[in-house]
Order: sequence, then structure tokens, then C-alpha cells
Amino acid sequence: MATIQPNTETVNDTTEEVSSVRAAFDAVMTPNYAPMEIMPAYGRGSRLWDTGGHEYVDFAAGIAVSALGHAHPELIDVLTEQARKFWHVSNILTNQPALDLASALCAATFAERVFLANSGAEVNEAALKLARRYAVDHFTPEKYRILAFDDAFHGRTLFTVCAGGQPQYSSGFGPKPAGISHCRFNDAGAVREYFAENRGRVCAAIVEPCQGEGGVVPATVEFLKTLRSCCDRENALLIFDEIQCGMGRSGSLYVYQELGVTPDVLTTAKALGGGFPIGAMLTTAGIAKSLVVGTHGSTFGGNPMACAVACKVLELVNTPEMLQNVVVASQRLTTGLEEINREFNVFREIRGLGLLLGCELEPRYAGQARDVVAACTKKGLLVLNAGPEVVRIAPALNINGPDIDQGLQIMREVIAGMAANTG
Ligand code: PLP
Repeated sequence: MATIQPNTETVNDTTEEVSSVRAAFDAVMTPNYAPMEIMPAYGRGSRLWDTGGHEYVDFAAGIAVSALGHAHPELIDVLTEQARKFWHVSNILTNQPALDLASALCAATFAERVFLANSGAEVNEAALKLARRYAVDHFTPEKYRILAFDDAFHGRTLFTVCAGGQPQYSSGFGPKPAGISHCRFNDAGAVREYFAENRGRVCAAIVEPCQGEGGVVPATVEFLKTLRSCCDRENALLIFDEIQCGMGRSGSLYVYQELGVTPDVLTTAKALGGGFPIGAMLTTAGIAKSLVVGTHGSTFGGNPMACAVACKVLELVNTPEMLQNVVVASQRLTTGLEEINREFNVFREIRGLGLLLGCELEPRYAGQARDVVAACTKKGLLVLNAGPEVVRIAPALNINGPDIDQGLQIMREVIAGMAANTG
């Protein structure tokens, strides 16, 4: 990608100014986040500049969202073009950008019907509600049980946070939706047992083909095939949450396409809008019939600007060249991380799919993933953690070689410092 220099006119805030803005931020925002004291001023591709003029290589992409990097010219064009036409109509009118996006998603996947919303949690909520309604329509109201997995993450609504497998996120919010059970991820035997114990009573299983927040752990094909066959036998819907791992990140458009296991419902968000909020639930025509008029909805779902951008993101991501770039970039990153690890032996495992990579720390660095993230940020590299033990890398899908190499160089410096301090 050609290097575009940012306009640095306002890039001169001092550390004190940033700290005082952060204090003002804390004074008006609810305290459920703890953002770093960095305020972005400009982004171009996989580079970001803060208001203090510091440059960052972006291996985080806004938590696996900015699929085509910052300020992609074609996305700016479609967004501004749509903004000049109309911004919003809600679901009371038929809108062309929503039709275009739904048609493109159906053409690219198993799906025949699409429900559009604004975030990952919302489309998972829709998927779980659909599964329960489908079971009521076709079987019995007693068939409401949902199988989910330990360490999973499906969003923060009450239903989705309870489907998630991290109790710290769901406790303390009063009575939980009933009927959700968790098995160990990648444990096919536990899945078989669960279905055997709940014959005729399971409406759905929900799973991430690669757990993201839970530590970047890919599902095994055997595990997903077992889920598929148990769901088939029990007439339960298999829901793949590809909100983090899908939309090109694995090197295929969606992970299911490389596994030979097709879900009944697939949820996609994050990278779908390349940074503009949108989520989509994909399913078949037969299953979608249960969402009759009035059963579900969203004021902003199908927002024309979000759909116009997502259409362009899908067009640009779903090409052999972009998906090949994911594979090549993934290899370059993995090779670099392995070299760092050969030198310093800090990672127990480097794993993941495509451009969703997790580096699990050796036990002697237990709980230090956030420290690595903070140290990298200080030196000009944005990375993520996935829990306390895993450093997560999820850059833009079009990241180039020089950006990868510079990011790896910073990572090497941080890891070298960490290894030296631990002795
Ligand atoms: N599902 C998965 C796999 C996710 O990683 C996330 C967010 O991290 C969500 C659902 C929730 O998406 P959102 O934050 O857009 O509601």
C-alpha cells in the first residue's frame, strides 16, 4: 500500500494534556472500561498516530474489526456516497444497501436469509431467540435447552453473556436465562453425553469455530463434526459464532467453509463493517420462517451506511488475493513469533487461524499478557490480550510485510526485556 502521511497539524498533545483528557473521560463515562492513555488522531492502513504524535503499528485492528486497516479510500468513498443520499430509514421501508448486503452474504455462503443488526451480541441474541422459536414452532416448548462451551464469548446482553463460558462476566446480574449448559470446549465425548442426557430437549448448540476472547483456541474438526451430528440427530440448530474468527480472518471467508461442517445459523459482525458497526445473522429459508413479522427487530438494523460499507468490505475481502494475503501474512507473523520464541522461550504455544493468533505465555510469565500489551504499546505496537495468559494478534487482513516486520521488531524488544527481567 502506498504510504500516506497523516496531517499532523493537531498531533501535538503533551502527556499532561492527554492525562487530563483521560481524567475528564473517567469523570463522565461509566467505569466499565479501562482504556489506555492514548488518543488516536489519525490512522492509515495498519498505522495509527496518537494526539501526541507517536506512531503505532496496529496488530489489534480495534479488536479484530478494522479488516482493511484505517481510512481505506474505497470505504470512505462508499460511506460518504451513501451519507449524501440517506442515513437511516429503519425497517419500515425497503432499503437497497440492506438488500445488496444480504444478497452478497447469501451468494458467498450457505445462507438463504439474513437478519441485520448492529453488533455481535445482537446477532447472537437473535440466533438464540430464533433457535428457541424454531423449536416451539416445530417441536415442543420443552425443547429450549442450549449447549454452549467453557471460555466462550458471545457478547454482553444477558442472554449472550450467559451463553458465554466465562462466569465472571455473567454473575451479579440477577436471575439468568434458564436452560443454558456448558461443556468443555473441544471435548467431543462431553458433547455426546450432554445430548444423550437431554434427549428431545435441546434446541441449539452455539460455538466459536475458533475461540477468540477465550484464548485463541481453534476448535478441532472432530469436535465440530460431533456437534453437527448430535444436532442433526436431535433436531437442534447448530450456531457458529464467527464474529471474531470469520469474515476472512482465517484465510477463508468463513471458517466453516474450510472445515466441511456447515452450521444452521452463522453470526458475523466485527470485521464485516471494517469499523462501521454492523452484525448479520445468516440462516436457511426454512429456519428463518420462524422469525415471522413482529418476532424480532432492531431500529438501526440494516442501517444504509453500515450496509453500504459492509458490502464494499465483503467485496474487497472475498477475493483470492485478499484471502491469500491473510495466509502469507499469517505465515510471516508466525515465523517471526517463532524466531522470537526460539531466542527467548517465553511462549508455551503460538496458535490460531490465519490472522487471529494467540501466543500463550510460559507458566513462569503467568498472568503477564496485559503487561506485554502495555509494554508493546509504549514502544509503538498495538496488540491485544485474550485473558491473562495469551497475547493476541489480530491485524488488518491487508497488512503488508514492512508493517509486520516492524511490529515483530517491537515485539522482540519487549520480549527481550521481559526475559531479561525474569532472568
Ligand atoms: N462473539 C464473539 C466471538 C466475539 O469475539 C464478540 C466480541 O468480542 C462478540 C460475540 C460480541 O460482539 P459485540 O462486542 O460486537 O457485541
